[in-house]
Amino acid sequence: MIDLRSDTVTRPTAAMRAAMAAAEVGDDVYGEDPTVRALEERVAGLFGHEAALFTPTGSLANVLAVAALVGPGQEVLCEARAHIARAELGAHGAVTGLTMRTWSDPRGQMDLAAIGDLLAPDLGPFFVRTTAISVENTHNFAGGTVVPLDDLAAVRRFADDHGVGVHVDGARIWNAHVATGTPLADYGRLADVMAVCLSKGLGAPAGSLLLGPADVVAEARVRRKRLGAGMRQVGILAAAGLHALDHHVDRLADDHVHARLLAEAVGVDPATVDTNIVALECADAPGLVARAREAGVLVGAVGARTVRLVTHLDVDRGDAESAARVLASLLA
Ligand SMILES: *Cc1c(COP(=O)(O)O)cnc(C)c1O
Repeated sequence: MIDLRSDTVTRPTAAMRAAMAAAEVGDDVYGEDPTVRALEERVAGLFGHEAALFTPTGSLANVLAVAALVGPGQEVLCEARAHIARAELGAHGAVTGLTMRTWSDPRGQMDLAAIGDLLAPDLGPFFVRTTAISVENTHNFAGGTVVPLDDLAAVRRFADDHGVGVHVDGARIWNAHVATGTPLADYGRLADVMAVCLSKGLGAPAGSLLLGPADVVAEARVRRKRLGAGMRQVGILAAAGLHALDHHVDRLADDHVHARLLAEAVGVDPATVDTNIVALECADAPGLVARAREAGVLVGAVGARTVRLVTHLDVDRGDAESAARVLASLLA
């Protein structure tokens, strides 16, 4: 089977497993796991943030990050298909007690006019108060699209002008970095808080980080424990993340090449594929998913008429070419 459902399906490489096995560990709830501390310091440094917090999932990193900017009964603005709105199962409402309003953009991009129409930082005692804008980069359900740095900078200025915060869901910020050559710190300096994943294209078995100012991260550490996600000798997982940072960032460029190759085969303009995700519109997404499975290719439906193809560490060029042939013949 060639598995294009997600870049989360990768299995740790032998070298990654060796790094995990050799990791120095301690009790991270006591702040005594040297490998976790090394990972947190390294990733904070990469993005130019003061501090970082290791979390088991990106969803938890996002919940903690957004909660640093948006309190109960306040709202965050985000694009309509944002992961925080669609794929975290309502955690931000259920756990934090915040609300969301959304703008829509087919490529998951910023729309400052629409954001301006929604924004309500202080409309008096009868309106929910907007305290943050959230940006997803790359945008998952829009097809791995990159939000250009200039657009992120414009949102930053807009947010500053109106006294609201900026959250960046950077689960795949590594892909944006490799696709555009933008330094990670340039993205980092535009966000008050951000979340980044090690378990997507970087190929770690688990783990994400929340990045932000030291006091925000200290408070998030308390909330992480409150939610039951204080972990102990978790340097075993942090070691996988450190290994991924050493070995799996530059190779994301291969995934991007493979995604464009797939796009071309299924009739999607490769110029619209920024990174490792192809959003394929078709008449019957579940039907295509089923037929592809019979032909040895796993793909996922992310809507009634949208199939998502995702390239990753466990899909080499030969796999991508085989999958492209299978999908092209099914669509013919
Ligand atoms: C995968 C993903 C996350 C985090 O997901 P987890 O499965 O909770 O790690 C967050 N944002 C985006 C855009 C994602 O694709």
